[in-house]
Amino acid sequence: MLANLLRAARARLFPPNKSAAFSCIRCGLVVHVSGDRDYVRNTILTVSESHPRPCKPKSRTL
Ligand SMILES: [Zn+2]
Repeated sequence: MLANLLRAARARLFPPNKSAAFSCIRCGLVVHVSGDRDYVRNTILTVSESHPRPCKPKSRTL
């Protein structure tokens, strides 16, 4: 029961097509990743953790 719920939730987070995208709302960077599920997850994690340093938001804030 619970395992099925967890599997359904995880399937929603990581759909079978095994692709995901990271988008930065500050500078507009978009990184699309597709491939093995672990690869996708690790790459998205790495990008989201390492991006803030080189992030140069366009100075168009209101
Ligand atoms: Zn950014």
